[in-house]
Amino acid sequence: MRYCKFLSPAHGRVYAIVEERDGELWAVRPMPAPEEDRAAASSTQIEFEPRPLKELHLLAPVNPSKILCIGRNYRDHAAELGNEVPKEPLLFLKPPSSLLAPGGVIRMPALSKRVDYEGELGIVIGRRCRNLGPDEDLRPYVRGYTIVNDVTARDLQKSDGQWTRGKGFDTFCPVGPIVSDEIDPAGGSPVTLTTRLNGAIQQQGSTSDLIFPIAHLLRYITTAMTLEPGDLIPTGTPAGVGPVNPGDRIQIQIDGLGVLENIFQPS
Ligand code: MG
Repeated sequence: MRYCKFLSPAHGRVYAIVEERDGELWAVRPMPAPEEDRAAASSTQIEFEPRPLKELHLLAPVNPSKILCIGRNYRDHAAELGNEVPKEPLLFLKPPSSLLAPGGVIRMPALSKRVDYEGELGIVIGRRCRNLGPDEDLRPYVRGYTIVNDVTARDLQKSDGQWTRGKGFDTFCPVGPIVSDEIDPAGGSPVTLTTRLNGAIQQQGSTSDLIFPIAHLLRYITTAMTLEPGDLIPTGTPAGVGPVNPGDRIQIQIDGLGVLENIFQPS
């Protein structure tokens, strides 16, 4: 199943099933909102004409209680910033207030002299989980996958020591355009991620190169904390991160998930 969330002038926030038509993603019919977003979204009783996603006011298709990120999970990215490869997954949080819709404007804080993009595959949790065992089937706990831009104020990340501020500004977590369970990067079908800055390819990585694969991450995280439905786990970025300038357009593409596109502007 593939779905998106959009803002309808008539119905408010709507979750919709997504299908591909002539190589384009279309929202074709309403679906029930996930349990964690039911209060905010409209019901399935509405009707709308199928429309291409590019004609809709898309919203971030997640409503997480937390955004649990993995740092330095690709060797070549750790190396490009002069960091060691971690011996265990490196966890940090972005606040839900940093979420941004596809097409939204990423605001570059005046406090920072270097804002970077980081294209990442995101896991969306579907069922509460804690202490997942080594032999446990993880598929029932994963609702699907999406695209995340782990936008980073690189200078503040370094100078603060803690990453919370450098990773946590409002608009620093674009997500979307869809969530899909029709790809299986946890199950031996890696996906390719490509990031373009103003049309030029900057990142090209495969989830086959994750240092800590998806199953390992879920087991590791849930030894420390409960994951709730809707929680989002960006799995790390491949090499090729870099700074942006006001007006730059960033596009992150993952096989089967479409393209997450945003523009950078000063705050
Ligand atoms: Mg990252």
